[in-house]
Amino acid sequence: MIKLENICKVHRTEDIETAALDDISMTVEKGEFVSIMGPSGCGKSTLLNMLGLLDTPSSGHYYFNDEDLAGYNESQRASIRKANIGVIFQSFNLIDELTVAQNVDLALLYQKVPADERKARVEKVLKRVAIDHRSKHYPQQLSGGQQQRVAIARAIVTNPKVLLADEPTGNLDTKNGDEVMALLKELNQEGATVIMVTHSEHYAAYGTRVVRLLDGQIVDANAKADADAVL
Ligand code: ADP
Ligand code: ADP
Repeated sequence: MIKLENICKVHRTEDIETAALDDISMTVEKGEFVSIMGPSGCGKSTLLNMLGLLDTPSSGHYYFNDEDLAGYNESQRASIRKANIGVIFQSFNLIDELTVAQNVDLALLYQKVPADERKARVEKVLKRVAIDHRSKHYPQQLSGGQQQRVAIARAIVTNPKVLLADEPTGNLDTKNGDEVMALLKELNQEGATVIMVTHSEHYAAYGTRVVRLLDGQIVDANAKADADAVL
């Protein structure tokens, strides 16, 4: 589904250059649930942003369904992203001034989904993540686990084929973390390809394999999570 070939990424800020990704080649097949792990600063977020077409490589090739996106401009990349990729963040990134239902509806508005379809789709997805009883509440009135379920609803309401999650459990306690992971696993079993960054072996064990990164390089592309690890 996604293939990276010899991808390098150099971040430039003023006079400082950081080689965040150093010759990364990897493939994510349809239906996989991949966890990306490694120490702070090793390039996990940069890699996830790369996979999600949120960032452009300094060199190398990105293939989406065998299509080489080299030479695509930002609007072409954005249209592939919008049609295929949903993203979840550690800090939920919900809009505090909008209700739960409005936050989710916004994703459909951006995609110019007709108004008469939107309401039913929002209701259905809020049921799917078991937060429909809170549709008129505001994010700050919900627990962290509930907010993350809303963020997942917002990410999946557009039916993306790929779901990216950057430390989705980072701000959650174990119980809420496990609930969110169980939901991601269900979505994976229903067909979504899931790629997640995590610091936790426990949560990584929900996935099918671990990609271990160190200093911008893949040191193991097919590792097993340590399911017995404590959080
Ligand atoms: P991780 O997610 O593993 O903590 P990151 O991908 O966030 O790693 O960062 C990898 C390296 O690139 C770090 O040295 C970080 O400081 C640097 N970096 C990440 N994003 C940027 C950016 N937008 N501008 C400059 N440097 C960045
Ligand atoms: P995480 O919490 O996922 O580890 P970080 O705190 O490393 O993420 O980074 C958060 C955001 O800041 C990311 O979008 C990353 O690209 C950016 N960033 C990280 N390091 C730097 C840096 N040295 N300079 C500028 N931006 C950075």
